[in-house]
Amino acid sequence: MGFLTGKRALVVGVASDRSIAWGIAEAMAREGAEIAYTYQNDKLKERVEELAGQTGSRLVMPLDVAEDAQIDAVCDTLRREWAQVDVIVHSVAFAPREQLSGSYVDTVTRDGFRLAQDISSYSFVALAKAARPMLVPGSALLALSYLAAVRTIPNYNVMGPAKASLEANMRFMAADLGPSGIRVNCISAGPIKTLAAAGIGGMRIMLHYMEKTAPLRRCVTIEEVGNAAAFLCSDLAAGVTGQTLYVDAGYHVIGMSPE
Ligand code: NAD
Repeated sequence: MGFLTGKRALVVGVASDRSIAWGIAEAMAREGAEIAYTYQNDKLKERVEELAGQTGSRLVMPLDVAEDAQIDAVCDTLRREWAQVDVIVHSVAFAPREQLSGSYVDTVTRDGFRLAQDISSYSFVALAKAARPMLVPGSALLALSYLAAVRTIPNYNVMGPAKASLEANMRFMAADLGPSGIRVNCISAGPIKTLAAAGIGGMRIMLHYMEKTAPLRRCVTIEEVGNAAAFLCSDLAAGVTGQTLYVDAGYHVIGMSPE
């Protein structure tokens, strides 16, 4: 019997079998959770349905997190199918591609900044707000962050402030929902080659730098992020909330490269 047996988890953000959300869904399913999936648009529908099938799930819904009506529709379906939701995973981010390379100050725009904040941060609390009546003591919410929330990283640009906002959002949600027994955390993952990461300039150099510099001298995998997420959203982590857990081969503790 897995440590998530009996839990029902909504996983938002699977786009392919390389998605961090997929690593999380697989780990949670392995530990006994029942999973509901969403896909951003019709182009991703078939792929997400096929992956969902691999974890025995038939609950697959469209969701563009910029649309409150779609968030409400997902929650309506979950209310009908499940009544209660134990886990929500937010593994979603977006910024216009042209803002993810070069000079931060020169490339950032009002619209780009607003969009990055909306999709990558606000949508986390929007999901919590809509799902609130289905959350119960013991429910756990999780979002995916990155080191650029607290350090500058070349090319990450407008996504840095979006991740800083996401982590602050998570702390406010944790403080607000904690008295109801609901936990809220982030995982700050090291760089992993995914569709979203491909949009960030210099990703290959970043992965190489990690391998040379991180204490574990390697990058992390979606399986490792998935296992940490499964733990954080389980009752094994019942005392943990308001936390950003780094799953980055230790990279964030390095002050200076050994070379
Ligand atoms: P991914 O491309 O596999 O996943 C990103 C997901 O965001 C996709 O499923 C996409 O459909 C979804 N998305 C974007 N805009 C959306 C919208 N408007 N509505 C609904 N869904 C939308 O890439 P990933 O790397 O697995 O990214 C998942 C999360 O992990 C993101 O928050 C990302 O910032 C974070 N993260 C990634 C890395 C990395 O190096 N890959 C590192 C740290 C954190």
